[in-house]
Amino acid sequence: MDDQMSCPMCMGRVIRGAIVCRGCKARIEYGIPGWAATVVLVFSIAFGLWSGAVLTWWIGLAGGVVLFWLGLAGLQHLFRNRVVFRLKY
Ligand SMILES: [Zn+2]
Repeated sequence: MDDQMSCPMCMGRVIRGAIVCRGCKARIEYGIPGWAATVVLVFSIAFGLWSGAVLTWWIGLAGGVVLFWLGLAGLQHLFRNRVVFRLKY
């Protein structure tokens, strides 16, 4: 396992798991991006409300929760190696 990365902003060495680059103070993000989690959340709620209105409320609730859980699991798999460097201005 490689526990060192090089920062694309300053080419400095960064330890995997660090939140901030010591060289250029870039913020480092791992895993699921916020927008993707939001999309899954909104989609699950919309599905829950829709199927709750069309079918029964508990089907909508259960369906929404299951959909959200499955969506997050999928995202976790999709973004498991994601690392993003972001400079703060
Ligand atoms: Zn850096």
